[in-house]
Amino acid sequence: MSAEERREELKAVLREARDCTRCPQLASTRTTVVFGAGNADADLMFVGEAPGANEDKQGVPFVGQAGRLLDTLLGEIGLAREDVFIQNTLMCRPPGNRDPQPGEIQNCSGYLLRKIELVSPRVICTLGNFATKLLRDDPTGITRLHGRPEERRIGSLDVILYPLFHPAAALYTPAMLETLRADFAGIPPLLAPPEPAEPEPEPAADAADLVQLGLF
Ligand code: URA
Repeated sequence: MSAEERREELKAVLREARDCTRCPQLASTRTTVVFGAGNADADLMFVGEAPGANEDKQGVPFVGQAGRLLDTLLGEIGLAREDVFIQNTLMCRPPGNRDPQPGEIQNCSGYLLRKIELVSPRVICTLGNFATKLLRDDPTGITRLHGRPEERRIGSLDVILYPLFHPAAALYTPAMLETLRADFAGIPPLLAPPEPAEPEPEPAADAADLVQLGLF
């Protein structure tokens, strides 16, 4: 699919998501569906948890305090929001900022996977436990996994999955912020273009070949 076709397909997913009522409670309390934002051809994608109050009002992910920290951390590795695609595990705000429920995560996961396949990033950073557990399909928590890149297949896409702490967890905990900053410093090497494959070594000529060659 060309970049243009993928963008058109993403718009079709957006139109579908805007009217989604799979989670009746979330559909009745949300202001907006927060679809995701950024560069639809990005090599780097972030997947957070769920919209908060600011995101719900503006329809854009990570625009509150945690979002400002995400912008700062991106800036420190030479990237801007426009270079990446940012979305959440849930597209609707859980009322009172409660945790996403398993059924809600399930309901939204089809959209998430379609967006991942259409944007086709090479690296996906999961922010916090909810995105990490969903995309690894495993209950291991972020404390054990953060900062360790893994090769994974997500849908039909081979990606590097790079679990990170959620920026909200680092807002008031300086030690956590330093850990997050150190983990962010690990992102640029993951985005470096793959090394060109080594040329195949010439098969070693065996003794019989050498005898043959000696005849010419
Ligand atoms: N936290 C998230 O996980 N996502 C947002 O969009 C904002 C805060």
